[in-house]
Amino acid sequence: MAKGRGRKVRVDLRKNRGKPGRGKSEWTRRHRGGDPKSDETKQVENVRAKGDLSRRRTIIVDDESAESQALQSGIVVTVRGLICEVDDGQRHWACTVRGMVRTRLIDERASVTVGDRVRFAPVAHGEEQGRTTSEARDLPEGVIEDVEPRRSVLERQYERRVQVIAANVDLVVITMAADQPTLRPHLIDRYLVSVHKGGMRPAICINKADLDVEGQAEAVVERYRGLGYKAFFTCVPEGRGLDELRELLAGQTSTLVGPSGVGKSSLLNAIEPGFSLKVGTLTDLARGRHTTTTARLLPWSFGGYVVDTPGLRQFELASVEAEEVEAYFKEFVDLIQQCKYPNCSHTHEANCAIKAAVEEGRITPERYDSYCKMYEECAARRHYE
Ligand code: GDP
Ligand code: ZN
Repeated sequence: MAKGRGRKVRVDLRKNRGKPGRGKSEWTRRHRGGDPKSDETKQVENVRAKGDLSRRRTIIVDDESAESQALQSGIVVTVRGLICEVDDGQRHWACTVRGMVRTRLIDERASVTVGDRVRFAPVAHGEEQGRTTSEARDLPEGVIEDVEPRRSVLERQYERRVQVIAANVDLVVITMAADQPTLRPHLIDRYLVSVHKGGMRPAICINKADLDVEGQAEAVVERYRGLGYKAFFTCVPEGRGLDELRELLAGQTSTLVGPSGVGKSSLLNAIEPGFSLKVGTLTDLARGRHTTTTARLLPWSFGGYVVDTPGLRQFELASVEAEEVEAYFKEFVDLIQQCKYPNCSHTHEANCAIKAAVEEGRITPERYDSYCKMYEECAARRHYE
């Protein structure tokens, strides 16, 4: 098949869809392992002239075997306007996003974001001048042609909209302080629900261990360990727990979340002095609702990345239905089917296995209270929408 003659071939190919012609097999072969939605889109757009045109252009991009062989893989480390900075493991590239990829992602309500695994085509020097921001101008340039399906999404509720902060985060370290600010276990439970919902793995880090004079934080750590979560103490000035934290983070794409002032920046700096993140300087303005949050992936010297979201390391429950909450309380899951009513909310119903387990001490009152608060809150939110 002649290279560069893709356009005509493709038009024929679609008319002949279903026949085992050469064109068809070419199509299938080239899209093997690609986005299965491409085919759906193709069929839908068959009946829409405008979409059809743009689809044809798309196909050319995907169909040029010479081009697809030249694609490189990388991970988006930061996004500035329309430019994604992509790390290919050796160096960074300033990439634009192929129009069709952007369109597809808009359909899926998600633009290319930090943590996305992408395939991009390097652009020969001079071809795409002026498209990158001045900040990225000295980087080699590329065009993102494909985005891998996401394993997980870290998102937050933002004025009733859901904002994706990062994709493909494996591990979320829920970071709290033993004191200053006061340790609130309910907050841990909220984060746990978000993390489970987002398809990520949680761990619980209680920093400022030096301030746990009455041993209250110790009890909290024990409670979560009892549930099977990884939970541990750290203390930045004493260096306690830092090796454990580093070991946990190595090779992962992770993020530290938790209220302001618990010591997240201090921890990051302590295990990676090269980061030099600002400590204790977060102003209310920086945390304001209108601040646009640009997350970035910072590489650890010991392998893996950490998502840094300046001015925003707190995230709220995003789009959890009240009925969904029970599924994210791991000690509830096996008991739920024993409730008398199949749609038991475990808040007021008779013969509720969850309430019985609380009575018997198999579920702690703190966890049960957390559940009830979250259930009510999610139910109320739905009511207003
Ligand atoms: P962030 O808002 O979560 O990033 O918190 P920062 O890293 O900015 O730290 C907030 C304050 O807590 C700073 O004054 C730190 O010096 C202090 N801090 C951090 N870690 C510890 C710790 O382990 N013990 C104590 N006592 N203070 C800490
Ligand atoms: Zn129940």
